[in-house]
Amino acid sequence: MQPRTRVKLTTLDNREAILDGWAENLSVSARLKRVAKVVVWFWAIAAFTVLLPILHFILPPALLLCGACAGLAVWRQARIVRDARGPCPSCGEPLSFPLLVRRERMKDTCPSCRHSFRISFDQSANA
Ligand SMILES: [Zn+2]
Repeated sequence: MQPRTRVKLTTLDNREAILDGWAENLSVSARLKRVAKVVVWFWAIAAFTVLLPILHFILPPALLLCGACAGLAVWRQARIVRDARGPCPSCGEPLSFPLLVRRERMKDTCPSCRHSFRISFDQSANA
């Protein structure tokens, strides 16, 4: 069972709202599966683009490189929060984030009022 966690949204004028979500620390095997999924997609598309005239000089190497970079980015996602829900700190409209990846300095914008807010994770759920 995944532990519940809290995600705090803070606007520039320091209004705050708390979202509830499910914290998940990904195991090495789960991270490898996520990396493999991303890399295989990029490299499969790269293999397909070999068949395209002229573009096959640019697209396959670019997609191979992008696949490696995307795989590295996914590998760094060791801690995630799924299904975070709560109100917007500015307008109170319900917000929903299906997947949040824990990083420094996360920002987003409310789709209703267009105010931006900073996203920070509950420190107790970082273990
Ligand atoms: Zn809003």
